[in-house]
Formats: sequence, structure tokens, C-alpha cells
Amino acid sequence: MQVVTDTGNAPSQDTGHYAATFAALRSTFFANKTRDISWRKQQLLALKTMLVTHEQDIHRALNQDLGKCETEAHTSETGFLLSDLKHTLKHIDSWADLRHVSTPLAAQPARSYLQPEPLGVVLTIGAWNYPVQLLLAPLIAALAAGNCAIVKPSELAPASSALMASLLPQYLDEDAVAVVEGAKEETQALLALPFDHIFYTGGEAVGKIVMSAAAKHLTPVTLELGGKSPCIVDASCRLDVTARRIVWGKWMNCGQTCIAPDYILIEKGFAEAFLAALEREITKQYGPEPLQSKDYGHIVNTRHYERLCQLIADLQCRIGGERDDGKRKLAPAVVLNPPADSTLMQEEIFGPVLPVIELENIEDSIGFIRGRAKPLALYLFSEDHVFRDKVLTQTSAGSVCVNDTMMFMTNANLPFGGVGGSGMGRYHGQYGFDTFSHLKSVMVRASKFDVAVRYAPYSRFKLWLLKKLL
Ligand code: NAD
Repeated sequence: MQVVTDTGNAPSQDTGHYAATFAALRSTFFANKTRDISWRKQQLLALKTMLVTHEQDIHRALNQDLGKCETEAHTSETGFLLSDLKHTLKHIDSWADLRHVSTPLAAQPARSYLQPEPLGVVLTIGAWNYPVQLLLAPLIAALAAGNCAIVKPSELAPASSALMASLLPQYLDEDAVAVVEGAKEETQALLALPFDHIFYTGGEAVGKIVMSAAAKHLTPVTLELGGKSPCIVDASCRLDVTARRIVWGKWMNCGQTCIAPDYILIEKGFAEAFLAALEREITKQYGPEPLQSKDYGHIVNTRHYERLCQLIADLQCRIGGERDDGKRKLAPAVVLNPPADSTLMQEEIFGPVLPVIELENIEDSIGFIRGRAKPLALYLFSEDHVFRDKVLTQTSAGSVCVNDTMMFMTNANLPFGGVGGSGMGRYHGQYGFDTFSHLKSVMVRASKFDVAVRYAPYSRFKLWLLKKLL
């Protein structure tokens, strides 16, 4: 495991150094070291030991970067990864095994199967909002599938990035995994290399840079992007539990979550009752002064803090919106009916501001969502099964959660990824393993018998028989 640290202040542009790291990993890959299932399991167990041994160090770094409290740090980062590791270790043998499929009569006698094979040397680029989870979850999948990897933590979560750069080499095989710290220049230098797969998590603009760099080598990409995730609140929902679950999903990590509800769509006559329930629930979860709550985080940096303050600068908050500039803290803020052309409704919020949009009829929510980019997540609170089916069949989203927010992430049997503008590709559980594998098609034909029907010279009889067989 190697660490290549660049500060970002004086970008090294050391493409040659990265190329050497890449070449070293590639020779490990070609030495077949990482194909061995027991090697893969060792790496996963080493990651588990690292997470368990250094859980407190990791939580401290997350607190420093984002003000994450212990419970959030565990549930959304270390605990999430430990359960990912448990699931992966439990299933790795069957995922890596041959996947037999049937063979048509025309090709008999033969056996057909898919043989999962690792891709080679992959690059995973992490984002700052869940800086440990989003760096290591793709790495778990990449290692389980038998790849070598370079991982690049986000420079915007510097404490987590430095900790990962110091811990990972102590636990993982240095011949197979390297950490590169750095920012834009370092990432671009890495992107110039001919990786076998690039797994990027972050915003759309950089996603385009990643994809065009990958195109030069025809490298496949997974883009885990973001966007505006809508949340429909139908009057048939159970109001209190709806408010509780929205408050949890929206204000965890201070709203800096790619799948946080970005805005609420609600019918006019129901909005006031919902706002009252929301306000009660914010107070229940974060107290009357959320800025003082030990469970409420801060905004990652001054640029994002100012961006968020700017979003609501000319708008009236129906609930909250108090600020502590020194600590980069912005209390849960709810804005009723912001203008459709406001930045708040045009761009992903990625912070603790929640617009609530009143509609004449809740069914208008379908057209509202269809008129915008396909979201990463869609939330629907409703006990009306006919309406639920309508939303599920007439809208598109990476994932949908009915009557809750974000909980689909806890199910490793559900793939996670966007659609359209919210990303491409998927991971979690076997979907991650498959993302970092090539499922090679193999047909093994018997050679004892050889029916000559497909060979020239052709005849009318052979053609007749072929038509029957194919
Ligand atoms: P970020 O700034 O941490 O950037 C992501 C990565 O891109 C970093 O490693 C960074 O070094 C690199 N990078 C930045 N600028 C670059 C450039 N010009 N060229 C090459 N590389 C560059 O993350 P962000 O973009 O601020 O993240 C926020 C976005 O990420 C939001 O849109 C959010 O929804 C999305 N997101 C998605 C997921 C998901 O799983 N789908 C998870 C978290 C965040």
C-alpha cells in the first residue's frame, strides 16, 4: 500500500510518479495475486480490523471535518462499512463463482456460464460529505472483485483524507492499493492514466471531466452524482411519522447528503398541518436551539456555508434559518413556495434548507418531477396505494423509498446509483462486486460429437434443419 500525498497548494503534476504507482499495481495484478479469493478476504478482514481499531480516530476526523456526532458517524460511515464488509465476506464465494446459464439446443452438447473476472487497476474518487464511507465502500467492492486500486479521498474533508492516507497503508497490501491525496490537479493527473475502471462520487461538473478523461482510454466509469431529490407528501400519510422521518433524512449531516430530500411537494390544503408537524419534530430532534445541539453538524467549508446562506438571503424562512457564522452552522431552514426560478429551486441544495412547494393537486407532483432531471432518490409519503403505483410507474429515479427517507441504503440487496443526470452505474452488495468485475461469457463445447449441419457445402435439407434448430 502506497501513499502519495500532494497538498493541493503546489500541485506536483507528477504524472510520472502516478504512472509509476499505476505500473506497480498493474504488475501486481498481472502476477495474479489479487485473483486469489483468500487474498481478497484477507484484505476485507484487514479493513474490518482497521475500522474497529480506529473507530474513535475516524469519528474524531469526521467531527473535525463536518461536526458529525458519534451516532451519525457510526450509522452512516463506520457502522455502514462494517455491515458492508460482513455482507461481502458472507457472499464473496458465491459472487466470485461461475454463474451457470442454460444452453440452447443448437449449441448442444455444451456448458455455458458467466465467469466473473477482475477488471485490473481501478481508480475510486471520493466525495467530502461521507468522506470515509464513500471512499471505502467502492474499495470494498473493488477488492472483493479482485482488483488493484488507487483511492483518492476528497481534499475538502482534510482530516478524514489525512487519516485514511495514514491508516490504509498500515492495513492493506501495499502492492495492490495506493492512496493519493490531493485536489483538482492531482485528480486530473490520475485521470490521464489508463485505468480499467473509474468510480467517481461527486458533483455533475466534475463527473463530466471524469467521463471525458475516461473516454480517451475507453475506460468504463461509474458516476455517483447528485441532483434534486423530491419528496412527495400526500395527505393520506401518517403525519407525525412522516415529519419525523423527513427531519431525520433532511438534517442528518446538516443536509449535506446526496440522497437527502431536496424539496417537498404537498397539496395546498395540507401544507400548514405538515409545516406545524415539521417544526414540532425539528424541536424534538434538535431542541429549541438547533445551533446548540450536539447532534447537529456544521457546513464543510466557508465557500459552501456562504453559498447556502446566499440561497436564502432574499427569502423568508417559515421555520429556522438561524446562523452561527463563526462555526459555519446553519439551523434547519424551511422556505414555503420559493420562486421556481430561484437558485434554491434550480440547483441541488446540499445543505439544511428545505423548500416546501404547494400544489393544487398532489397528482401534479408527477408532472413536476417529470419536468426536471431524473433524481437520484425519490421519496413518497402516502397510504394511498393507487397514487403510490402511479408515482412509481410514471416517474423515474435512481431509487425510491415509500414512507421513509434514505432507508433503502441499509439494504445491500438493493443497488445504489443514479439514472440520467443523477449518475450511471450502481453498487452496494453484489451490484458493487459486479461493477468491478467483467462477467465473461464462456461456452465449453463437447467435441466428441460434431453435427455437420452448419458447415458448407450447404443444402436445402441443412437449411431446413438449421431453421428448426435456431
Ligand atoms: P468534491 O468537491 O469532494 O469532489 C469530488 C472529487 O472530485 C474530489 O475527490 C475532488 O478532488 C475531485 N475534483 C474536484 N474538482 C475537480 C476537477 N476540476 N477535476 C478533477 N477532479 C476534481 O465533491 P462535490 O462535487 O462537492 O460533491 C458534492 C456533489 O456530490 C453533490 O452533487 C452530491 O449530490 C454528490 N454526491 C453524490 C453521492 C452519490 O453517492 N451519488 C454521494 C455524495 C455526494
